[in-house]
Amino acid sequence: MAIPTETVYGLAANALNKIAVSEIFKIKNRPFFDPLIVHISGIDLVEQYAISFPEKAKKLAEKFWPGALTIILPKKDVIPDIVTSGLPFVALRVPKNKITLEILKSLDFPLAAPSANPFGYVSPTNAKHVAEQLGDKIPMIVDGGKCDIGVESTIVFFENENPPAVLRYGGIEIEEIENTIGKVKINISSGSKPQSPGMLDKHYSTTTPIKPLQNIDKASINKDKTGALVFGKYLNFLPHKNQIVLSSEFSLSVAASNLFEAMRDLDKMNFELIIYENFPNQGLGMAINDRLKRAGTS
Ligand code: AMP
Ligand code: MG
Repeated sequence: MAIPTETVYGLAANALNKIAVSEIFKIKNRPFFDPLIVHISGIDLVEQYAISFPEKAKKLAEKFWPGALTIILPKKDVIPDIVTSGLPFVALRVPKNKITLEILKSLDFPLAAPSANPFGYVSPTNAKHVAEQLGDKIPMIVDGGKCDIGVESTIVFFENENPPAVLRYGGIEIEEIENTIGKVKINISSGSKPQSPGMLDKHYSTTTPIKPLQNIDKASINKDKTGALVFGKYLNFLPHKNQIVLSSEFSLSVAASNLFEAMRDLDKMNFELIIYENFPNQGLGMAINDRLKRAGTS
């Protein structure tokens, strides 16, 4: 079933049941090398699924859970290998959504839940997005309205004795993480088989080609066939009706919450090209820039 979270909608199954988890991969058409995040109802459950819980990881969990932060820790055997793609580490998160927390509290198992979209496409931020793409493949969608944050969780990896490393920019800002536990390594990889496959070069993609504004030769584009995703102000060289402004007040958190919906809407408008503005590379802007860049990689 699909569940709402504050980041994006998840496609959830019993994380301790290999067969249930394999259904997630099948429905999403997700490669088995891309591990799933395991959702739990509270910090007290970490030790059931992780061998160790370092002090800094605990600090982050205490500060940001429930919230858009995923912590990767050495896994216990109860977590089947299919969930972690054979890695000895499990990704854990307590989501901040009332309904989903109630569901998690009522179950005696955690929920593995990647984003509820076909692999590689833009993540869903409302129940309708899920219904459009997976409605006929899943038994139930829990409608919790629009996701508050709208981009995926920030992922921090605690690899044994190594210093903590951020594997994915997301809903919790790097600045906030560093304010809590000090400097972290930024290990945002790319490539075709990175450690954190949400970090595949091409991911979160529209079907229509999408490119950054600075790579566009304005004179050579067909203006009626070009859409644009902009931060706070329309571009003056394109019709307004072709553009989606993510936050007229230039708020990064509002922009993040509208990002994936805007990408989906522009994708439906039959443009030959979508162009996007780069966002300030700070706070949530880092997650937004990351998603747009990956959507545009061909
Ligand atoms: P999604 O839920 O679709 O945002 O995808 C979850 C992402 O979490 C995956 O694509 C991986 O990037 C990351 N992830 C989950 N588990 C692990 C793990 N054990 N090691 C590294 N990355 C992980
Ligand atoms: Mg995803």
